[in-house]
Amino acid sequence: MNYFLTKEAVLKWLETPSVYHIKRDELYELDNEAFKFLKKFQNNPPSSPFSKGGMGGFSKNENKFIDYCIKEGILTTEKNLLKRPHVIKSPKPSLRYLELQITDRCNLRCKHCYIKPSSPPFSKGRMGGFELSLSRIKKVLSEFEEMQGLRVLITGGEPLTHSRFTEINAMLPQFFIRKILFTNGLLLNKKILKNLNVDEIQISIDGLEKAHDSLRGKGTFKKAIEAVKNAINTEFEVSVSTMVHPANLGDFDKMEALFKGLGIKDWTVDVPCITGRLEKHTEVQISPDKGGKYLAYGYGDGLHSGASGFACGLHLMSVTADGRAAKCTFYADRDAGNIKDGLGECWQRIKPIKLSELKCDCKHIEICRGGCRYRAKLLGDSMGKDLYRCALYNHPFNSPP
Ligand code: SF4
Ligand code: SF4
Repeated sequence: MNYFLTKEAVLKWLETPSVYHIKRDELYELDNEAFKFLKKFQNNPPSSPFSKGGMGGFSKNENKFIDYCIKEGILTTEKNLLKRPHVIKSPKPSLRYLELQITDRCNLRCKHCYIKPSSPPFSKGRMGGFELSLSRIKKVLSEFEEMQGLRVLITGGEPLTHSRFTEINAMLPQFFIRKILFTNGLLLNKKILKNLNVDEIQISIDGLEKAHDSLRGKGTFKKAIEAVKNAINTEFEVSVSTMVHPANLGDFDKMEALFKGLGIKDWTVDVPCITGRLEKHTEVQISPDKGGKYLAYGYGDGLHSGASGFACGLHLMSVTADGRAAKCTFYADRDAGNIKDGLGECWQRIKPIKLSELKCDCKHIEICRGGCRYRAKLLGDSMGKDLYRCALYNHPFNSPP
């Protein structure tokens, strides 16, 4: 019998050789022997001894491994001859997650938006004016895939306002990476959902109706919830992202019940960084002692976490709509170059931050990893404490075990 890698599985060489299940967002670290074994199924080349005299003759252990891989959706007997990317060793640390801001245009003007007013002035009722061209987006995604990247968050502004979104969407299936669309949900109608080539949709919901609408505008909550339901009914995985602000503090238990009831995969809860338009809207800013403890809500994985010994964003890079690359979107004003230089080149310029460099003399450091470096910077010292996280970990109800 012949075996093939499933179309959802792809080999990646990160810090260790691995196989990634794109649909389930599951990364399996392999030893060299298992990796070499799976590599034989990579493109099923006609010259391979595996495709000539059948696939028999495996040892007992190999057969056990094949059975496991079939159970996990990594191998299949269904023939596919997909052209898969080359597996080469990734840089260290590996670039696993990419935030790709395809445009800074938006159909809303949320009070807590971090996008700085340096973008060109509003036009046709929309904010901002930059968008990445199709060829740039294709180049960035190809380079990210070549660097063994795992997940791309397609973001904005509102990504669905990109003037060539249909063409961007059409090019997505060629990349063996997990694609996540991050949207406010307003434009996510059934027609768009029917043709959308992403694995996950992340929708912003900043409270129950009154609190959400107070930030984003009247009627936006109902539309966002409708978008969530339509996306789930179209069998997308859906995640939600929520900002803590003074008007939604009483909503968190109900939001949790709502999101779990709807089948939301991941729920990211964060405190907005006081930058961009939020600087003007003091009424939606929240202090560490009032807002920090709500960071305990939420579940699932985000893109921003560090790894043992390192602060946030160890495997993350962002690309802005005007082509700059940076540690994350907040660091766009201290960019690591332009994507014209190549994604790999920009990635080399970003220096990982070690936990030992932080001024966090705290027993929670390995779990907290110093929180958000940008928030710490806004609080006065980029190597200092993220006081929102300190409030979270020192809150009696939230102390980790
Ligand atoms: S600085 Fe904040 S926003 Fe940037 S990667 Fe770190 S946690 Fe994420
Ligand atoms: S809780 Fe505060 S002091 Fe401790 S690691 Fe986090 S940010 Fe640093």
